[in-house]
Amino acid sequence: SIEVRGVGKRFGDFVALDDVDLSVESGALTALLGPSGGGKSTLLRIVAGLEKPDTGTVLIAGEDATRKAPRHRDVGFVFQHYAAFTHLSVYRNVAFGLEIRKRPKADIDKRVRELLELVHLEQFADRLPAQLSGGQRQRMALARALAVEPKVLLLDEPFGALDAKVRKELRDWLRRLHDEVHVTTVFVTHDQEEALEVSDEIVVINNGHIEQVGSPDDLYDKPANDFVMSFLGPVT
Ligand code: ATP
Ligand code: MG
Repeated sequence: SIEVRGVGKRFGDFVALDDVDLSVESGALTALLGPSGGGKSTLLRIVAGLEKPDTGTVLIAGEDATRKAPRHRDVGFVFQHYAAFTHLSVYRNVAFGLEIRKRPKADIDKRVRELLELVHLEQFADRLPAQLSGGQRQRMALARALAVEPKVLLLDEPFGALDAKVRKELRDWLRRLHDEVHVTTVFVTHDQEEALEVSDEIVVINNGHIEQVGSPDDLYDKPANDFVMSFLGPVT
């Protein structure tokens, strides 16, 4: 589970997050949905530990993580700017987190093979990231994030740069993966359709605050305000 309590974040005079409270249940697949500049990435980076909040606390799996470094938080993340190691094979990229934790070689090998199978990249183990398609690279990044068995998986627009067809394939695949692995997952999107189709719960965030939290049906049937209504509006 994730608990965000009273989190505020300013950049200079600009309020990026204003007293945000959020609970994400264990095992849920949650979308953070909202317009550009709304504060989605800032919130996710604070949960990951890549950014410090000015106020408030973050609990991960019941433990206060507010002052912990990312690697001590039990989170796996895929951010667009955390690209792969270009000089390492797909296999080594996925193994990396286990190698720095000095796991036994045989255990690492078993785990990496399992993960590559899970993301359907088993036949690409020896390639370099540059020799993969965009969608394959995103799947590699997901395998890498899952390698250390995080309690929480955080994905910031994981399919952002891909074309519509690949996006759709990957989001169906993320849904299935989640049904298999059940790791608490939060993914950022500004695409209403993606949020409505993939997630158990949607958090609508705009202007640094949360407008509504609910299931796709809740949001669609009972939008909390005009903003939510118009933001979801164009979906048919
Ligand atoms: P997008 O969908 O475009 O990625 P977002 O919802 O992820 O948007 P954030 O990246 O969280 O938005 O940014 C929220 C606000 O905070 C924006 O107005 C942004 O310009 C501002 N901001 C974010 N990071 C910084 C920073 N390091 N310095 C100054 N302002 C920042
Ligand atoms: Mg963002």
